[in-house]
Amino acid sequence: PQDFAGRHVTVAGLGVSGVPAARALAGLGARVTVVNGSDGERERAQAAELAELGVTVRLGDGETLPEGTDVVVTSPGWKPTSPLFLAAAEAGVPVWGDVELAWRLRGPDAAPWLAVTGTNGKTTTVRMLASILAAAGLRTAAVGNIGIPLVDVVLGEGQTAATSYDVLAVELSSYQLHWAPSVRAHSAAVLNLAPDHLDWHGSMTAYAADKGRIYEGNAVACVYNAADPATEDLVRAADVEEGCRAIGFTLGTPGPSQVGVVDGLLVDRAFVENRQQQAQELAEVADIAPASGKPAPHNVANALAAAALARAFGVPAAAVREGLRTFHPDPHRIQHVADVAGVSYVDDSKATNTHAAEASLAAYENIVWIAGGLAKGATFDELVRTAAGRLRAVVLIGADRALIREALGRHAPDVPFVDLDRTDTGAMSEAVREAARLAEAGDTVLLAPACASMDMFVNYNKRGEAFADAVGELAAAGH
Ligand code: ADP
Repeated sequence: PQDFAGRHVTVAGLGVSGVPAARALAGLGARVTVVNGSDGERERAQAAELAELGVTVRLGDGETLPEGTDVVVTSPGWKPTSPLFLAAAEAGVPVWGDVELAWRLRGPDAAPWLAVTGTNGKTTTVRMLASILAAAGLRTAAVGNIGIPLVDVVLGEGQTAATSYDVLAVELSSYQLHWAPSVRAHSAAVLNLAPDHLDWHGSMTAYAADKGRIYEGNAVACVYNAADPATEDLVRAADVEEGCRAIGFTLGTPGPSQVGVVDGLLVDRAFVENRQQQAQELAEVADIAPASGKPAPHNVANALAAAALARAFGVPAAAVREGLRTFHPDPHRIQHVADVAGVSYVDDSKATNTHAAEASLAAYENIVWIAGGLAKGATFDELVRTAAGRLRAVVLIGADRALIREALGRHAPDVPFVDLDRTDTGAMSEAVREAARLAEAGDTVLLAPACASMDMFVNYNKRGEAFADAVGELAAAGH
């Protein structure tokens, strides 16, 4: 691991990754300055805590590079165009993200990384992967963009039995990859690529290039989505270790070097266990959602990507099946909330962009769709056009609902909708009541907003909770 003793590290931002980074670096003997633009009560309290560790915190100026900085460690949220980074570039000072720092702090016996990125499905896939690895008896954890800060994971690695790992399932965001030039995964997957966060990256090309970084230097496998050629292009562009293979996943019949689906079975044609065999059966599709036996198609894709990474690590077929059966999705991701009066209520509050909402709408027929929020510059024509045939009705909420209403006018003029002109948190109750009124027995009321939540809620969790509460009220009212 890299030696930080006496080095002057400037940490950009007092965020969820900045504070642990500052703490870790101070513990390693670095001279640490944290710079943070805002200067509120919370920041002052954090600054006081860090000061006790010998960290200098400069509040109210996140733009000027402190004198003598050897390296800048940034929180993923900071835009690459921030003046601090321009100053760093001018001074020839490297900028690392939290993931780069963690990578450089790994010990000699650190566990290899199986890494996952993509516009949507990262958390689900990483959790599926960790479940599969655990079912194979491997010591593992789901880390990265989720769970405890990666820097803490890496520094704690090997310290106790509970923090000794054989392999890590690592979720990486495009922001993190942007600032992580030296990470080299054992194997990695890009699940899909759709426009998102373009304000941060500057362009789709830049966004794709940052995602593609995850393949650089892969040792064993680069897993791509055969239905999304842009992901395969990223594999081709990557510089990988000799012998590293490109492995596709597909919801159809797999070709050679692919994993896919045949007659309701997940099948591996990339890592066959027996030379006589052309294909290895891994699990039933139904194993992905044992309660209903009917997983959403995008979760079949996520399961195939997780399986491919696990197989690249040598996990036997039986563990793939076991791991998928015992996997539980995180809340607010296609979560069945309740059935009320023969109508099924599903919370996919995490569908914060159109690509995600398109996937969840594709999983149901006869949908009363609750949509809207902050559009983040998105357009809704393609989403509404593909979903139109499945929509019973639509309830629009949130600041940018007019954009969806206009797309409905163009592509689904016959679908009835309710336009709720309120953005207070109580609006969700009314939205659910309206949805219940529009739904018929056998329908699905689906919260898949295709938008961010911050116009009405603190985050997508709160939005999903408000939905579940509203469904609870509905049930209690005896509808
Ligand atoms: P991420 O960590 O990338 O945000 P999650 O696993 O939390 O991904 O899923 C976020 C949302 O994206 C889900 O609620 C679902 O609507 C959608 N989604 C999940 N997997 C996929 C996929 N493979 N393709 C398209 N949309 C997906």
